Amino acid sequence: MEAWDCPVRAVPGFGPKRSKMLEKLNIRTLSDALRCYPRGYEDRTNVLPIARLQAGEKAAVRAVVGVEPSVHRVRKGLELTKLRIFDESGVLELVYFNNRYGAAQLRQGHEYIFYGRVEHSGRVKAMYAPSYEPVQPEQTGGRIVPVYPLTAGLRQSDLLRLTDVALSRSSGQIEDPLPTALRDKYGLPDLDSTLRQIHRPVSLAQTGLARRRLMFEELLLFSCGVQRLRQARTQEKGLTFPETGLDGFWQAIGFLPTQAQRRAVADVAQDVAAGKPMNRLVQGDVGSGKTVVAAALCMLAVQNGWQAAVMAPTEILAAQHTVWLQKVFAPLGVSVVQMTGSMTARAHNAVQQAILDRTAQIVVGTHALIQEKVQFANLGAIVVDEQHRFGVAQRTALRHKGQTPHTLVMSATPIPRTLALLLYGDLDVSIIDELPPGRTPVKTYAVGEAMRPRIQAFMEKQIAAGGQVYVVCPLVEEGESGLKSAEAYAHTLQSALPGRRIGVLHGRMRPDAKRQMMARFSGGNLDVLVATTVIEVGVNVPNANLMVVEDADRFGLSQLHQLRGRVGRGRRESYCILFGADKGQAAQDRLRVLTRTNDGFEIARADLAQRGPGEFFGKRQHGLPAFQTVDPTAELALVQCAQKEAEQLYAQDPTLAAYPALAARVEGLFRDDSVLN
Ligand code: ADP
Ligand code: MG
Repeated sequence: MEAWDCPVRAVPGFGPKRSKMLEKLNIRTLSDALRCYPRGYEDRTNVLPIARLQAGEKAAVRAVVGVEPSVHRVRKGLELTKLRIFDESGVLELVYFNNRYGAAQLRQGHEYIFYGRVEHSGRVKAMYAPSYEPVQPEQTGGRIVPVYPLTAGLRQSDLLRLTDVALSRSSGQIEDPLPTALRDKYGLPDLDSTLRQIHRPVSLAQTGLARRRLMFEELLLFSCGVQRLRQARTQEKGLTFPETGLDGFWQAIGFLPTQAQRRAVADVAQDVAAGKPMNRLVQGDVGSGKTVVAAALCMLAVQNGWQAAVMAPTEILAAQHTVWLQKVFAPLGVSVVQMTGSMTARAHNAVQQAILDRTAQIVVGTHALIQEKVQFANLGAIVVDEQHRFGVAQRTALRHKGQTPHTLVMSATPIPRTLALLLYGDLDVSIIDELPPGRTPVKTYAVGEAMRPRIQAFMEKQIAAGGQVYVVCPLVEEGESGLKSAEAYAHTLQSALPGRRIGVLHGRMRPDAKRQMMARFSGGNLDVLVATTVIEVGVNVPNANLMVVEDADRFGLSQLHQLRGRVGRGRRESYCILFGADKGQAAQDRLRVLTRTNDGFEIARADLAQRGPGEFFGKRQHGLPAFQTVDPTAELALVQCAQKEAEQLYAQDPTLAAYPALAARVEGLFRDDSVLN
């Protein structure tokens, strides 16, 4: 802690009680207070004459209190405090609810600046519960007032007082992590004036520049962190797998690999033979056949005497991988076992034993693989499937089950290149940009309720022809009005499809029940599977050729693309029906995107453009870290600059010796992986 910095408790007026409340905002010290940025500003500089106030707008007025506040008890629990204020141009009524003390400090005949929303109150204009401050001698206009995030018990005035202390003590004391040269190059203010303009704005334009500087700082720090990870990795010694022949493996998979699959596998084979730990991302659209690359890495590990682990985000997916890998590897004499959270203790112990005595060579599982008690004998390679479902910490935990094992992460989530660099800057990337032959694009239709009878007839027709149907509903139980729950839905559907075998699958079912249901569907013993989005990732039933999504407008486009990817996996002509097109123009426009294209990248771009970055940026979907000041999807140009500068800094000065303040911040960044999760 720097000399000027101290715990909040040590600041006069902030006892244990208030310090506890501040902790809820992650403020423990004065420097924390400086990094607790206002969530907005009230611009009280634009002081209007009362006569010019417009109802519905927020505004500031400078006015004199005409009559003392009077308290009106409207009914039990509702007390109004009313008063009137005036200036040269007119009179305004003020109303406070259940807060007679809020207005009690206002003195008749004194002048204040009031700020609030203007409303009509009968024939006069009014402000409800405006904030106010006394006019200082010589003051002409109002101020720009920061609005801080609060928790129960804290008031704006507490944060204002605390940041006052922090600003005055820190002034000239904090070392700026941004190198001067970069500040000059991008015309950004130094840290001192940045913090001042953030907490005590003089003009909103200057505060805007200060915010950009904080955004750039955060992106630069992150990019430096990624550079540092990358650097550390290239210095690490890794396992060498010299035996890279894969002829037997290609025979065993039972189809001809695509050129793109061959290229990705060649990348992997080259990495693992090079003596450095591989850290590679395989990115490919749904159905592009990424699992083959995973299997090839397992093969390379095993034929060089090492074990391999494959981690999938759901039990359904883990089970599916196990089945396919067993089919491929059994003829090669390689054993594949499965470890999931729902196994009995006994089964778990048996698998653990097999892993330790090395009779298990490939281990497939869920998060269960990274539990502390699970141990490997000689883990040489790991695969993380659908990597965006896992945090970096989970990926790292699996790596620590071996000594710098080769790591392959796989993702179907297409994101713009700039963001990919930000996210995966420490990874090498192989792209599978080709689908296996014989796939016909899924025919997609966005429809409304009026089409329901025809869609049901279409379902019947597909089933009669030997196909299978998925129906996806957003919720499990009948919750929000009008939404179809999986179970209730299946019930209704049964009467529309008499005699057809309908199953239900949702996240609240027990894992073995889920597995059984999935097995019935993939074995052809169900005609329709009504499911929640548990089937979103990876599920592969080639005979299924119709996907119906209810309330599709409630899903993200990329998520719908993933869902659609469950069909079109076999020889049957496949269809995707999206209900929800009758819910307004916006919904219709969104769903239309999917009817137009099958290209995951284009869909991701449209998703980004339509939903706005905030939602696209949801961590769960894309595994992006949470930034405090910046939304990278909205600031691609800034992201690019930060990346370029970080790269150059590290190229010139690998330990950042010339920038100790920056180096110190980068050092703290990934200490516990928390920033990345
Ligand atoms: P994803 O990239 O979505 O994980 P999968 O690995 O699950 O895709 O592959 C989708 C389906 O395509 C599987 O049934 C798989 O066996 C099949 N497949 C993969 N590669 C080929 C290929 N080269 N030729 C034919 N079928 C393939
Ligand atoms: Mg997959």
